[in-house]
Amino acid sequence: MSRFRQNPITGDWIVLAPERSERPNAFLDDAREPGPGQCPFCPGNEGMTPPEILRVGRDPWRLRLVPNKYPAVSTGSAFEANGALAAGSGHHEVLVESHEHGITIDRVRTEDVAAAVAICRDRYAKLTEADRGHVAIFKNHGRAAGASISHIHSQILSLPFVPQRIREETAGFARAPECPLCSPSAGDLIASGRHFRWIAPAFAASPYQQWIVPLEHAPNLGRLSDAAASELAELLQRSVRAMNGLSPELAFNWMFLNFHQPRCHWYVEIAPRLTTLAGFELGTASGIQIVDPARAARELREGM
Ligand SMILES: [Zn+2]
Ligand SMILES: [Zn+2]
Repeated sequence: MSRFRQNPITGDWIVLAPERSERPNAFLDDAREPGPGQCPFCPGNEGMTPPEILRVGRDPWRLRLVPNKYPAVSTGSAFEANGALAAGSGHHEVLVESHEHGITIDRVRTEDVAAAVAICRDRYAKLTEADRGHVAIFKNHGRAAGASISHIHSQILSLPFVPQRIREETAGFARAPECPLCSPSAGDLIASGRHFRWIAPAFAASPYQQWIVPLEHAPNLGRLSDAAASELAELLQRSVRAMNGLSPELAFNWMFLNFHQPRCHWYVEIAPRLTTLAGFELGTASGIQIVDPARAARELREGM
């Protein structure tokens, strides 16, 4: 059972889930990769994951959604604030985006990546209703980005509270006289389509950070059309190709930033892991940008 503990100074919650240290590869210097036949996300090993929630395709399947075997949250979680305990609930799911071990997301069929985006949209809607807090959707690619299993997958994690970053950004959207993401001035354009703009935000704190921003104002991806899901899939794949152009097999995270208030505008943040958070970043929650985002946009545009 995981617990949520609150920082009395900031009001932030953390998830205390010691069971997750039992995962294979839980720690960064622990580089054991499951051997052949041992990967829980490979066909034939379906019994190594909890019973699946859904799959797309048969013989072999193309995508599989399963509960996380080592969940950070569960229906039996508990809030722990000022010594008081209260029940909380959450869900932690893994979306395996291909049966092929070793394939990277840029080489998966775009229609399957689009199906993965559509599954994220549908689970977002379902879990938001079930847990009434926040649903985090993210991908960790590479050890430096926190992936403990190399077989491609994303994670969907619902929390019974709204975390700090989402609360702060929600307040920012509420304060702004006009939606900052409806204005094209938020960053340097890398590419755009009918539904999204792919930009390097001018204020990005880490090198080559990118945002994919829907052109239509919406607080979350809950009502994303299938056509928009396809375009997003294509842009995510182009982004990964462009990052590989900078440095092959670059570790990265992508995060879907979803909100609940109508004044907010959702987006996807893609963050290559080229630098480590150091004392300044940890001590200030600020950053020192070493690559001008205008240059990052130009290089990513040329590299895709
Ligand atoms: Zn595998
Ligand atoms: Zn907007």
